[in-house]
Amino acid sequence: MHGEFHTIKFVDDLCDGHMHCMRVCPTQAIRVRNQKASLLDDRCIDCGECVRVCPNNAIIAMTSSFKDFSKFKYTIALPSPAFYAQFGKDTTPSLILESLKKIGFNDVYDVACASEAVSIAIQEYLDTNKSPRPLISSFCPAIVQLIQIRYPNLLDHLIPIESPMEIAAREAKNLKMKETGLKASEIGAIYITPCPAKMLSIKNPLRKKHSFIDGAIAMRDIYPTLLQTISQSNGNHDIKDIQGLGLGWPIVGGQVACLKAEDCFAVGGLTDTVRILEDIENDRLKDIQYVECHSCPTACVGGTLTVENPYIARGRVLRMVEKYGLIPCQNREKIRGLYQKNFFSLIGKISPHPVQPLDEEISRAIEKMQKKQDIHDKLPKIDCGACGSPTCLAFAEDVVLERVMLDDCIFVAIKKFEKLSSDLLETVLRHSEKINSNIKMITS
Ligand code: SF4
Ligand code: SF4
Repeated sequence: MHGEFHTIKFVDDLCDGHMHCMRVCPTQAIRVRNQKASLLDDRCIDCGECVRVCPNNAIIAMTSSFKDFSKFKYTIALPSPAFYAQFGKDTTPSLILESLKKIGFNDVYDVACASEAVSIAIQEYLDTNKSPRPLISSFCPAIVQLIQIRYPNLLDHLIPIESPMEIAAREAKNLKMKETGLKASEIGAIYITPCPAKMLSIKNPLRKKHSFIDGAIAMRDIYPTLLQTISQSNGNHDIKDIQGLGLGWPIVGGQVACLKAEDCFAVGGLTDTVRILEDIENDRLKDIQYVECHSCPTACVGGTLTVENPYIARGRVLRMVEKYGLIPCQNREKIRGLYQKNFFSLIGKISPHPVQPLDEEISRAIEKMQKKQDIHDKLPKIDCGACGSPTCLAFAEDVVLERVMLDDCIFVAIKKFEKLSSDLLETVLRHSEKINSNIKMITS
C-alpha cells in the first residue's frame, strides 16, 4: 500500500513556500517549487514533523471528525495514555474517561491497561522466542515505515505483537457486542491520537487485513471541548482509578520499564533512532534483547497532535506511574495464557518499501548515479535550500530524475550569467575597434 496513502495533506492555497517543513523533514520527503510544498510520497514516514512546524497550518493531519462517527449506533472512545497527561495535575485518568462519556461517546476503554497486557506479551515473546536480536518495538508507525524504507534488513527484528490500541479496540468491541447485541459494524471504536502516524496504522494496518479501530480524533481537536466539560465537573465519577505500569507507555522508557529483561533500552527522536538502527544493522547490538523506539523525541506525550508542553506532560506521566503504576491492572498468569493462545500475535511479513531508484534498469541506474555525483561536484554544497530541495545532494538527484533543471540552483545560474556577461564583454571589446572605425566612416 506504500505510496497510496499518507496521513498528511498540503493545502496549496495556504502554503507560501517558506520551507520550514522541508527543513525539518527527517526523510527529505518535501520539495518546494513555485512557492508551494509537495510530497515525494515514497519517502514520507508520516511522522508529522512538518505539520508541527508549518506557520500557516498549510499541512493537514488527516484524522477523523465527529461527523464521521454518526454512522455508528454505539461509539467507544479509546484515548492514548498520552492523553491523560494533557490536563492539569488534579485531572485524573478516570475523570477524563468519565468526561469523554459526557461529551457524547457511549462508552470508553482504557488503553493503558491494554499496554500493561502487551508488556507481559512482549516479555513472554522475549523469553520464548529465538528470533534475531535485538527485537525492535513496532508500536510507533513512523518508525516501522522508516525501517521499511531505509532498513529493510531489520524488518525481521520488529516484534510481531499487536499494539495496545488494537488490543483495546478488539476487547472493547467484543464486550459491547455481547452487552448490546449490536454487530461489530454498528460499533465505532475511536482512538484519540497524539499523531497522524497512528491513523496510518489504522488505515493501512500491517500483518493483518483490517484494524479494529474505526477512526482517530486528534487530541488537539477534542481537547477544548473536554477541558470545558472537566472544568464544569464536580470531580465525581463512577469509573474506578486507572492503574498499572501501562500508564508509563507514552514516555521514552515506558515500555522498557514494564519488562523484566535487563538488556533493553529506549530511544526517542529520529536522529538517535537512526543511529541505533545503523548499529543494529552493523551487528553492534547483538547482546541487547529489546529496543523501544519512538519517532518523537519525547515519545507520544510529545506527538504532533498533542497540546501540552511535552516535558510537563512527561512529568505528569511520571507522577501518575508513581501514584498508580505499582498496582497491576492485569493478571499476569491470565495474560500468559492468552499469549499462548496467540491472542497478541501478528502473523505474516512486513514488506520493504525502498525509495524510488534512479532507474529500474541497473546499468542506467549506475550511469545516473555517476551523473548525480558529477552534478553534486558542481554545486556549492551549502544546502541553502533556495532551489526547493533540502540539500545539494537531493537537488542533484532531482536534476537527474528531471524534476528540476540544473539552472534552478541560484549559484549555477549566477555562474552561467557571469560567464555569459564576460563572453559578451569580450566579444564587444574584440569588435570595438572595428565598430569605432565603422562609426567614424558613417559619420565622416
Ligand atoms: S510527515 Fe514527516 S516524513 Fe512525511 S513529509 Fe512530513 S516531516 Fe516528512
Ligand atoms: S512516538 Fe508516538 S506520537 Fe510520535 S509518531 Fe510515534 S506513535 Fe506517534
